[in-house]
Amino acid sequence: MTARRPYVAVVGGGIGGLAVALGLRQQGIEAVVHEQARELTHQGAGIAIGANGHRALRDLGVTERLTASAARPVRADFRHWRTGRSMVTHHLTGSYEERFGAPFWTVERAAVQQALLARLGPEHVRLGARCTAVEQTADGAVLRFADGTAAEADAVVGADGIHSAVRHHLFGPDEAVFSGTSGYRALVPLDRLRHVPELAEPVLWLWLGPGRHFIAYPVADGSALNFLAVVPDRSWTVESWSTEGDPGELRAAFDGWHPFVTEVLGACDHPGRWALYDREPQRTWSAGRVTLLGDAAHAMLPHHGQGANQALEDAVVLARLLAGTDADGVAGALRGYERLRRPRTRLIQAGSRKNAGCFQLPDGPEAEARNERLTGLPDDLAWIHGYDALAALRTAPAPV
Ligand code: FAD
Repeated sequence: MTARRPYVAVVGGGIGGLAVALGLRQQGIEAVVHEQARELTHQGAGIAIGANGHRALRDLGVTERLTASAARPVRADFRHWRTGRSMVTHHLTGSYEERFGAPFWTVERAAVQQALLARLGPEHVRLGARCTAVEQTADGAVLRFADGTAAEADAVVGADGIHSAVRHHLFGPDEAVFSGTSGYRALVPLDRLRHVPELAEPVLWLWLGPGRHFIAYPVADGSALNFLAVVPDRSWTVESWSTEGDPGELRAAFDGWHPFVTEVLGACDHPGRWALYDREPQRTWSAGRVTLLGDAAHAMLPHHGQGANQALEDAVVLARLLAGTDADGVAGALRGYERLRRPRTRLIQAGSRKNAGCFQLPDGPEAEARNERLTGLPDDLAWIHGYDALAALRTAPAPV
């Protein structure tokens, strides 16, 4: 048995891939990210980072760099779609931070990606590297790329998103599950929304109505509002972060809603639109020296706001486990990672599916009962936001 430390190749330079490479290098493990894009551009709108994801970012040493670009909503405010009646509110600063031990942030996806990249060092990211195949030998793994190049490693992490090529190579093709809904999203500069008095305060807004819902929060140091508008549409199946939707269709879908919603939509000329898919939970994430992380492992609908948070939790756990083994022990470390992470992410995938329906109930007794349930949200979500991934790792049984 050698005592050589593992050399790790990460496929995908999204939040999950950059975070695991950074975590590994901080533990003294050589890791390189292979990213298909030729540059890491400012694609994607806002994401919410809960206390659980914040703890992982803190462990990775990037919270200071991100503080300036993150917004801190003071509360989550559930509103009636038409009247604007505040149905339920929950604090997201004081008591949230006291209870869950870290802040709740809303921030641009690209800002998180750039902060991780800056801390990792761009020299550890190979751009323009589209992975097409993964092969395993008795004592290593080989990645093959579209440009004909190859890379060897002791361990491979497939952090290549919802359409993961690594997952496809390990486990064959799988069907994405279409939710029958689309998400429109965009960033609207706040100075275009001067007539929306509610925006004087940083708030996470959730406007719930029959068959659709509208979520909005500040990002970019509070200078822009990010929104996600979810509508039913079985005919739109394009799953892309860069496709534009029709602003007229979007406005028509929210016709009759409260002026907050219609004003924001009226100020947005180029909404992105993507059909919302997830995957059934994978029965296993790893084979030999290769594993999956983030959306590649557990693609989820956005209705818990946990996609990036779970990728960050995965990353800090996997980095610790690989740092605790030598090159021969990689497969055991990957089994331990999967055993700890899979049950949790599976539950969050299921909860994300369930939330969609309950956010879109018609006015009436069911919606009233939902509102009653929402008053208990901090307790109901404590297992997600109060979670400390590294503390869970410390108390997990040793891998077999
Ligand atoms: P991703 O963020 O999907 O990153 C995967 C990375 O792998 C990408 O950089 C991709 O280019 C790369 N990749 C894919 N295939 C290959 C391959 N074969 N070889 C090499 N590299 C490959 N979530 C939100 O909540 N709001 C948003 O606005 C939002 N915008 C997004 C925009 C984009 C362009 C993307 C890719 C994702 C977006 N997400 C958004 C999703 C969110 O970022 C993820 O759910 C979460 O961060 C988990 O990240 P991940 O690293 O697992 O996957």
